[in-house]
Amino acid sequence: MRLKTIEMQGFKSFPEKTRISIDNGVTAIIGPNGSGKSNISDAVRWVLGEMSLKSLRGSRMEDVIFNGAAGRTPSNFCSVSIILDTEEEALESSYDSGDNTDEAENKETKNAKFRLGDSKEVVITRKYYRSGESEYYINKTQVRLKDIYELFYDTGIGREGYSVIGQGKIAEVLSQKGDERRSIFEEAAGISKFRYKKTEAERKLKETENNLVRINDILNEVSSRIGPLEKEAENAKQYLVLSEEKKGLEITLWLEKIDDIKKELEKSEIECNSGKYELERCEELVKKLESKLDSSINEGYELSKMLSETERKKSDAKQKSSGIGSKKAV
Ligand code: ATP
Repeated sequence: MRLKTIEMQGFKSFPEKTRISIDNGVTAIIGPNGSGKSNISDAVRWVLGEMSLKSLRGSRMEDVIFNGAAGRTPSNFCSVSIILDTEEEALESSYDSGDNTDEAENKETKNAKFRLGDSKEVVITRKYYRSGESEYYINKTQVRLKDIYELFYDTGIGREGYSVIGQGKIAEVLSQKGDERRSIFEEAAGISKFRYKKTEAERKLKETENNLVRINDILNEVSSRIGPLEKEAENAKQYLVLSEEKKGLEITLWLEKIDDIKKELEKSEIECNSGKYELERCEELVKKLESKLDSSINEGYELSKMLSETERKKSDAKQKSSGIGSKKAV
């Protein structure tokens, strides 16, 4: 793995976007005192996740943002990216190896899908805003700081890695104090990876312990409510039994009602049929009476015709007889 490029913008003494390409072989950056050489190594350590203000030679994190100079206004944020050539030695994300067992973390990780598999270079970016927000990216995908630590922790490149040795670090190496030297040798021996894992495991253990305490609290709280809840559960059970019984009784009642209604219906049908029969008989009777009435009317009509004929004949006869009487008198 080889550091190919360092890009800085708004970082310490680099307000403009500055790109430093590092070719094969040895690259030296030369400049007078205070020209910003150490700021470049600070940028590399910073992008790898350095959080120690002392190592970054500042008193607060904001000090890494360009703070203005004669004729230049301060920047609002700073950004550093390093591009690593991984053609010869691939970097492996702990996610890819399925190392992560924490479910919540796995979920987060799925959101931050970055694939290192086929990529021939890895771009690590860190941004910091004056508002205090930090952003971390691996291959332009936003990740957590932890992801960057984990990406490098067995490579010797980490923020505490021996690969970046600043002016103060040389003093540490040469120091007689075992503790100061130990961390450097541990990183070199690859032990820091296990130390990191141990710290993580201890952190998770602590979290689990806290969770256990919380669970115990909840358990205590819940057990004090068990008595009344048992009574309520008993009531609920009884309610269920009784409501089932009520349902059965209601069904029986309805079935009986339906039976009664059916019987009523049958009775009404019989009555209706006999009514119909009566009605038919009456209708026939009415028809007969109507035809009788018709023939009586006809007879009456014939009789009145005959009567008027007889009347007419009677008056004719009267006239004739009076004619004959007058002739006799003459
Ligand atoms: P030396 O050789 O003495 O170690 P150097 O070349 O390594 O010096 P650095 O220590 O990297 O120089 O840079 C120091 C310079 O960076 C100083 O001029 C300082 O003003 C400038 N500087 C540091 N932080 C900021 C900042 N936040 N904003 C603007 N300039 C800054």
